[in-house]
Amino acid sequence: MRALIVEDDFLLGDALATGLRQLSHVVDWFRNGQEADAALASTAYDAVVLDLGLPGGDGMVWLGRWRGRGLGLPILILTARDGVEQRVAGLDAGADDYLVKPITIDELNARLRALVRRSAGRAQSVWQHGELSYDPATKQVHWHRQLVELTRHELALLEALLAQPQRVLSKDTLQEKLYDWRGDGPESNTLEVHVHRLRKKIDPGIVRTVRGVGYALGAVDALP
Ligand code: CA
Repeated sequence: MRALIVEDDFLLGDALATGLRQLSHVVDWFRNGQEADAALASTAYDAVVLDLGLPGGDGMVWLGRWRGRGLGLPILILTARDGVEQRVAGLDAGADDYLVKPITIDELNARLRALVRRSAGRAQSVWQHGELSYDPATKQVHWHRQLVELTRHELALLEALLAQPQRVLSKDTLQEKLYDWRGDGPESNTLEVHVHRLRKKIDPGIVRTVRGVGYALGAVDALP
């Protein structure tokens, strides 16, 4: 998934971003609400991790603004404020989860997965598409019950397609799911290379090219 972290504490923010990246997520980390706000306006994130005590504007204010603007993505508050009233206020303002620091990266990861799963309307923790199954917890992909070894970028691409199996995703949207803003950006043909490898490792029909638009997941009944 592509996650946005808003955390002004350098050590904690760095630890969260590094930890989630090691778990194969694409992460953008900002230290104030203004930058996060600009990123949200231009990038399709799957989830937000929001600190409350932020310079230049409290996290609660940003949360209210984003929900007021109709932003529906999962938002998880991660804060030192542990009062019951504060938790209730956070959830009432539109947060999907409220976690009190300190927290382990494993719990944060599990909570994010649960939120993204819920927002995609999936009750199952393993995603199934015909004979393809994908477990976001272990990052394991099976095709006809055989384990398929995928690279981090191939996994991110497959996950983006599986998350919206009915939709055609533009190349720009898919690029956003694969690369963060740190500058390790893609070569112009990299997306095509990853698509090619997914077809080779899984099945030629697993990704459909929609000419002039982008890519979509192959229809289940077209797969062997
Ligand atoms: Ca803070």
